[in-house]
Amino acid sequence: MQIVVIGGSVAGLITSLALARDGHQVTVLEKDPTPLTASPAEAGEHWKRQGAPQAMHSHAFLGRMHNMIRDREPELLKTLLEHGAEELTFQDAARQYFDDPEFEPADDDIRLLACSRITFEWVLRQHVLKTGLVDFRDGMEVTGFAAESDPVSDLPRITGVQVNNKAGDTETLHGDLVVDASGRRTKLASWLSAIDARDLEEVSSPCGIFYATRFYRLLDGQERPNKDGIIGGDLGYLKVGIFPADDRTFSITLAASPDDESMRVILRTAGFENVAATIPMVATWIDPHVSEPISEAHGMANLNNMHRLTVQDGEPLALGFVAIGDSRVHANPLTGRGCTLLWISAYALSDAIRKFPDDVRGVALELNSVVERDCAPWLQSQMQQDADAIEANRLLRDGQDPYQAERDDGTTDPKAQTRSFIRDGLIPAVRENLDLMRALARFGHMLDMPSNLLERPEFMQAALASYEQRHDRPPRIEGPSRTEMLEILRA
Ligand SMILES: Cc1cc2nc3c(=O)[nH]c(=O)nc-3n(C[C@H](O)[C@H](O)[C@H](O)COP(=O)(O)OP(=O)(O)OC[C@H]3O[C@@H](n4cnc5c(N)ncnc54)[C@H](O)[C@@H]3O)c2cc1C
Repeated sequence: MQIVVIGGSVAGLITSLALARDGHQVTVLEKDPTPLTASPAEAGEHWKRQGAPQAMHSHAFLGRMHNMIRDREPELLKTLLEHGAEELTFQDAARQYFDDPEFEPADDDIRLLACSRITFEWVLRQHVLKTGLVDFRDGMEVTGFAAESDPVSDLPRITGVQVNNKAGDTETLHGDLVVDASGRRTKLASWLSAIDARDLEEVSSPCGIFYATRFYRLLDGQERPNKDGIIGGDLGYLKVGIFPADDRTFSITLAASPDDESMRVILRTAGFENVAATIPMVATWIDPHVSEPISEAHGMANLNNMHRLTVQDGEPLALGFVAIGDSRVHANPLTGRGCTLLWISAYALSDAIRKFPDDVRGVALELNSVVERDCAPWLQSQMQQDADAIEANRLLRDGQDPYQAERDDGTTDPKAQTRSFIRDGLIPAVRENLDLMRALARFGHMLDMPSNLLERPEFMQAALASYEQRHDRPPRIEGPSRTEMLEILRA
């Protein structure tokens, strides 16, 4: 097949790689000017990634994705490691909390790939180009589909794309199949509408956060303060992430509610540093004796969970196209699932084309069934979690305690009770019970599908035992309360 891919970021690249391995010719059209530089560091300086602003934010790659690279593209994994990426293992994390833990062979699969997004993309692009079957053209912006009517189904049949090239001229490029990998802000809905396809249904919900990230490098002779992999913290009004990356770098992400005006200070470097320094688990990493900043603070807003239904009532909206990556499904970035989801879809597309080599309708339906089965449940679980976090955050700003289960009238607030049980029962139990830690890590790394761990009696018991001891434990202080933080900021 001659395949045209719109967007040359992670989804476009991995789709091209999977399809080139099957012998297809692929043309990737990327609107951002991103000429291949001599090193990832130069890419960081010269690439203008307006089309993928998240490239300037914390990224880490989960076990399921790590294992797909390990098993299908071992040379790529080797090159990433040579460029300073690191594999952070479950075993190392567990040894911090358990003496002599007993591991299982499958624990080797729980492995985080720590690598900055720019390094990852740069190495991946080089690797894809080595196939010799992928023509990567940057500075090419797709403006719409070329299509005709399919005489059998009466659906629009996409035959290629219209592109504005570097010289500012418009050209039409033919493709037997067009892959939309143009990311969360895809113009798919308007492109489909322009060729008289059925309206694209988009199911979305807010993540309830905006993001601010800054990158740092460990000073010579200094080691990472701990080996937990990605470290997350939740102050209620502020979520905190520490992401180890390649070449002794790491990034700190702070995320707050878009409704919380006072927290917008973290969007500027000075405000970011002031807030970060008040949070003990972050302060140990950004201590000037341990590391130095290597970027300014970058912000990113308008973050939504999104499910675009490119197949409706059992039929694709048009023939000859599919959507992969963020353009199809994307979720709250805090859980770091985006690249794993698109990796799953890219290989599902390659399988679908092998199964239906001359049938673009069959390809679209087959891919859709995998996305709905393997990707959509993660999105649904995230949407529920975000809705609850938004509510908890609102209560906090209104001066209420979102963890206070007993109401004044003597009844119980079930949502507050669940929050409190997770915070004071399940989470502490993870560090006391290796099986629970493993189960949670397998879920976090997308190795097991979303499920309620508390439905397993042994985990429920462990969480209950831990919950009962909540008053005996010193309160876990992750950082200042919102009121304290506002005072610090005022000062
Ligand atoms: C703040 C943040 C942090 C994240 N952290 C993680 C993480 O830790 N781990 C993880 O796995 N995922 C993470 N994600 C998600 C991950 O970044 C995305 O899932 C992933 O980048 C999606 O890749 P994509 O190729 O589909 O889209 P994008 O990376 O957004 O790329 C789309 C590409 O299409 C190009 N394009 C757009 N329109 C056109 C057009 N008309 N013509 C030609 N080209 C076009 C753009 O320039 C861009 O290069 C994070 C996301 C955000 C927002």
